[in-house]
Amino acid sequence: MRAWVEAEAEKCVYCGFCEPLCPTLYPGGHRGYGPRGRVNIAFNIVRGGKHTGETLKSIYSCLLCGACNLVCPAKIDIVGVIRASRALGG
Ligand code: SF4
Ligand code: SF4
Repeated sequence: MRAWVEAEAEKCVYCGFCEPLCPTLYPGGHRGYGPRGRVNIAFNIVRGGKHTGETLKSIYSCLLCGACNLVCPAKIDIVGVIRASRALGG
């Protein structure tokens, strides 16, 4: 699962197309509460990084609505990455 998350997250080109659709980004107050931020948090975790209280809040405040998946030009399974990061201890 770690290799899959890493491969998915590596596809992110930081375009930000996913962000306007995310219902949790603006309430969260910064990009860490949007899909792009969550993909990069997951990438950091599978590369050996440690969660902080803030990253845990980000990962667990995702509604798993899937709006981000629909627009990602890199075809990242963002919801799958977020689910996996929870399963990996996120
Ligand atoms: S699945 Fe999560 S990250 Fe993606 S748009 Fe919905 S709330 Fe935002
Ligand atoms: S739309 Fe996809 S490639 Fe673009 S920032 Fe979001 S996750 Fe990364």
